[in-house]
Amino acid sequence: QVKRQGKNGHQFYSPDLDLQLLDHIEIESDLRKAIERNELELHYQPQFHAESNQMIGVEALVRWNHPKKGLMSPGLFIPIAEETGLIFEIGTWVLKEACRQMKLWHDEGGPLIPISVNLSSQQFHQPNLVMYIKNILEETKLAPNYLELEITESMMMDPAVSIAILQELNKIGIRISLDDFGTGYSSLSYLKKFPIHKLKIDRSFIMDITQNSSDKAIVAAIISMAQHLKLDVIAEGIETKDQLDVLTENDCQEIQGYYFSRPLSAEQVEQEFFIPGRIAGEIGG
Ligand code: C2E
Ligand code: MG
Ligand code: MG
Ligand code: MG
Repeated sequence: QVKRQGKNGHQFYSPDLDLQLLDHIEIESDLRKAIERNELELHYQPQFHAESNQMIGVEALVRWNHPKKGLMSPGLFIPIAEETGLIFEIGTWVLKEACRQMKLWHDEGGPLIPISVNLSSQQFHQPNLVMYIKNILEETKLAPNYLELEITESMMMDPAVSIAILQELNKIGIRISLDDFGTGYSSLSYLKKFPIHKLKIDRSFIMDITQNSSDKAIVAAIISMAQHLKLDVIAEGIETKDQLDVLTENDCQEIQGYYFSRPLSAEQVEQEFFIPGRIAGEIGG
């Protein structure tokens, strides 16, 4: 952490890095207390079917309401949680809270849509993962087909092991999506063997899709491959109408991004999308 690689390959030292290290240590010790102090919260980013504007799912995204630093994004503390093993405790809290919230929404007449939860590699590889998830579903009473787990290609470095875990998750009815798809190094020959349901095209391919013909070609290829492999496909990080148009022209109907909605608190989701009198889960006029 403290040493950085210089351009010429030499390690160099900067006083900033002392601060970074201190910050890191402070975050780590605060993070240990965050759960019992109720400082974690989930935000929910709705996912939509582009043509019909139907809400088809939500992704749970964790935030940390730090007493001094304010609302911290997962990019800042999930890596520390992974390094320190705190990810198990945090991950359990996230799974339970996400399932609890979705079950509540279902019971209150919200749309019968699934909730997606991001898993860290350590969680994916934990022994008894399936029993562990099963227990959370039983505790929260959410039906397994309403839970979607998001994993990444980088977690599947040992295909035989991964396939076995995925098959077990499949058996209990859980859906799996491959997050940040296209940024990892998974071999395409394994893709057909992984029992997964959905590819999530990474935002990095979407950002410049209206100008960059390579990105556009890659996205088109992913969509077409998903169709042939009979996988669902969703694009992440759609911010503009022009980006949306490129995707729908290429037959990608499932969309997640700021153009439709930012991640919202549970209350905001209810207010914006579950307003009585409108069809639950439908947006727009
Ligand atoms: P991710 O799973 O790929 O989640 C999508 C990220 O992209 C979220 O950032 C979301 O807010 C952001 N995003 C969505 N639409 C747009 C858009 O149109 N434009 C831009 N610029 N960004 C958009 P967030 O919430 O900061 O999460 C970052 C990453 O942290 C997630 O990436 C995921 O890998 C990880 N993460 C979040 N929650 C959890 C969690 O509960 N457990 C674990 N293990 N990781 C989590
Ligand atoms: Mg995700
Ligand atoms: Mg992710
Ligand atoms: Mg992603």
